[in-house]
Amino acid sequence: MDVRQLTISAIRDGLRARRFSAAELAAEALRFAAAENPGTNAYLRLCEERAFTQARRVDQQLAAGEEPGALAGVPVGVKDVIVTKDITTTCGSKMLENFVPPYDATAVERLEAAGGLIVGKANCDEFAMGSSNENSAFGSVKNPVAPDRVPGGSSGGSAACVAQGTAVVSLGSDTGGSIRQPASFCGVVGVTPTYGRVSRYGLVAFASSLDHIGPFARNVDDAAALLGVIAGRDPRDATSADVPVPDYRAAAREEIKGLRVGLPKEYLEGLEGDTRAQIEKGVAKLRELGCEIVDVSLPYTEYAIACYYIICTAEASANLARYDGVRYTMRSPRARTLAEMYRLTRDEGFGAEVKRRIMLGTYVLSSGYYDAYYLKAQRVRTLIARDFAQAFEQVDALAAPVSPFPAFRLGEKLDDPLQMYLSDIYTITGSLAGIPCMSVPCGTTKEGLPVGMQILTKHFDEAGMFRIAGAFERAGGFAV
Ligand code: GLN
Repeated sequence: MDVRQLTISAIRDGLRARRFSAAELAAEALRFAAAENPGTNAYLRLCEERAFTQARRVDQQLAAGEEPGALAGVPVGVKDVIVTKDITTTCGSKMLENFVPPYDATAVERLEAAGGLIVGKANCDEFAMGSSNENSAFGSVKNPVAPDRVPGGSSGGSAACVAQGTAVVSLGSDTGGSIRQPASFCGVVGVTPTYGRVSRYGLVAFASSLDHIGPFARNVDDAAALLGVIAGRDPRDATSADVPVPDYRAAAREEIKGLRVGLPKEYLEGLEGDTRAQIEKGVAKLRELGCEIVDVSLPYTEYAIACYYIICTAEASANLARYDGVRYTMRSPRARTLAEMYRLTRDEGFGAEVKRRIMLGTYVLSSGYYDAYYLKAQRVRTLIARDFAQAFEQVDALAAPVSPFPAFRLGEKLDDPLQMYLSDIYTITGSLAGIPCMSVPCGTTKEGLPVGMQILTKHFDEAGMFRIAGAFERAGGFAV
């Protein structure tokens, strides 16, 4: 059995035909993950016991002739910002090095109820802040496609475990691009659903108005299957939407002839040569499939990075105030007074990027600056969302690049946070608008580095997005 070749439907067939059991599958995925991990550092920990308990349950259900669920026996990686009951969840931070959550995130609960096996907790940038996974307190992750390169971030481990094949699918989180960008860098599919489509209950908060949970997979069908399982209203998250969840897998099998796909002109300006060539090829493929390609404009794009880094740091500074040395395990042993406890715990527990964002966020929220920065940024966010709404009056979907460049070298942008922030230019807009967006592999550069194409649709139209991605994949837009 080669876990790298398996898909959700192949696992379903294999289990039903008794070619392998869920327990055998769990054993093989865990063996492979343990063998690969010293090389890539994709997982922060493996979850042997949990995976085997689930696998046994699936095998018993199969033996009893019961339906074991849409993800029966499927090895899944879970980003370490998503809480798992009784399994340490660190958010890539020293602050939570020993934090063992007392409950499961809704997405975790749902994927296990559907029979999924959690192989391990995936490495990530500290509190999901970053674009390269180099901000993890537990070491960076190597891109399985090119080991001298970053896997992207902040869900770098989630992308890497699917790309290396130790998990069939995984969960990541996206606040400003953290699913789509690593998916693009590692050559896999990554989906950011509509804000509110998937419950955030149990997703450790970075910027609450922007945080999303979403799937990674090696093909469109698997991503559609996983999203179908985790999507839908959850009474434990007040922002989760009560909107029916259609059959995404069925949508991905439809044809796309006659659809109107917009190409935002602002997204093509800063593209590096090889990336541009791949995106142009992808767009040509959509045209061959019968789509009408329409030039559109999203004029507020140039303000997206500034707007995002005001809003996300403001929210982060408020959300991260809870790590105070009293709750969540870590407390500096050097502290002698209450004030020292706060100061030293936060000084020792947080890494440089997290501190930078807390300071920025505290600044933009402070009285006197609130109106000038935070309020202004919220207004710009509305204008960015309006850009998309206007575009979707003319077109069914948008096609765009994910990142201006492919995976960069480890260390290359580490000393220049601004350069790092600029790599999010094409993903941040969709996050600010809260619309569904995904990255599908579209080609490789001359150096053999994957390039992802982004597909964006209107709120809650994930089905429309999967429809285009499915047709693109079938037409050989990308090889699995
Ligand atoms: N790279 C962006 C940031 O650093 C996005 C991170 C994310 O989506 N979690 O904030």
